[in-house]
Amino acid sequence: MSIFLKTSYCRHLSSTAMAMCSSFCPQIPNHFRGKPISLFSSRPPFSVSFKALSSRAYDDPPKADKLPANIGFLGIGIMGSPMTQNLIKAGCDVTVWNRTKSKCDPLISLGAKYKSSPEEVAASCDVTFAMLSDPESAVDVACGKHGAASGMSSGKGYVDVSTVDGATSKLISQHIKSTGALFLEAPVSGSKKPAEEGQLIFLTAGDKSLYETVGPFLDIMGKSRFYLGDVGNGAAMKLVVNMVMGSMMASFAEGLLLSEKAGLDPSVLVEVISQGAISAPMYSMKGPSMIKSLYPTAFPLKHQQKDLRLALGLAESVNQPTPIAAATNELYKVAKSYGLSDRDFSAVIEALKGKLQQ
Ligand code: NAP
Repeated sequence: MSIFLKTSYCRHLSSTAMAMCSSFCPQIPNHFRGKPISLFSSRPPFSVSFKALSSRAYDDPPKADKLPANIGFLGIGIMGSPMTQNLIKAGCDVTVWNRTKSKCDPLISLGAKYKSSPEEVAASCDVTFAMLSDPESAVDVACGKHGAASGMSSGKGYVDVSTVDGATSKLISQHIKSTGALFLEAPVSGSKKPAEEGQLIFLTAGDKSLYETVGPFLDIMGKSRFYLGDVGNGAAMKLVVNMVMGSMMASFAEGLLLSEKAGLDPSVLVEVISQGAISAPMYSMKGPSMIKSLYPTAFPLKHQQKDLRLALGLAESVNQPTPIAAATNELYKVAKSYGLSDRDFSAVIEALKGKLQQ
């Protein structure tokens, strides 16, 4: 896999790119303004770009007259809200829709426009992003009655950043592309805080030209982006990542409880882990609150279980044994049965305590 490295996206926007940006992002903040991008000439089918290490803003910069002027965003939840905020703060012209309209209000007060259906958003915008819960909601919002596809046409683009399975992504792609519009799947790695800080990792696949067109927007919301080829590859990559994460969290939860039962201080366990080869930011971030049985929601447990379920389906489809993930999935299902669906996924530790069963 050839790899493209970008150095300092924020500090290396060329005057060309800035001129292009200014046509749709008139109030680009200072940290997006700056120095030249040097463009590489080769174009591998798989590429990755890093905001923090960037010498290029995007693989094949769109012409200024082709840059999207109006951005739509469907699904204003834990992730959609901060992602949209970052686009608005960067000066983009954003139109929002959410099933529960009240969640759009803070964005409207920041300057977003509102439309009352996905169809209307798609019809009024050049590029529409969607950040929905699961396969069912992603299909419904894209392909259902008054869904985004009804407002799509040639010259427009649809970027689905929800975490779904490959089959769902392909179905949505077919619907969108049948209208003449372009489609990109772009699920994100990174949770609420990275979304707030514009530090998400985009795992994209689909129409390469749309990937290039929306590159500047992905770079506002994220720190890096991977282009992985055909639709389904982005979804698969995301599911593999979250399968690993779900198992890591379950194992960590077991360790915390075991250390306590063995007479150790679980806070010291968190510290020991943080200094060794198995350290991960997730453990240091979630450990202290898990010890206090606090689970402020960043990544809802129901979404983690959905991702494990979808990852197991992917594994089944390619005949790959995943016994650890299968057992982990069962644990998250127990946690859901305890009413913990909307708590943070770290609440899976409660399923190991057993006390809620009594
Ligand atoms: P969330 O807060 O639960 O938001 C889900 C969004 O989907 C809400 O806007 C919700 O609308 C909408 N929705 C759900 N069912 C719908 C339906 N039937 N029709 C229309 N809209 C519907 O979830 P989130 O944490 O933002 O996650 C969104 C996606 O990103 C999920 O696929 C998740 O797996 C993925 N993801 C999440 C994280 C994270 O850390 N949170 C990180 C990476 C990826 P309402 O407001 O009306 O309910």
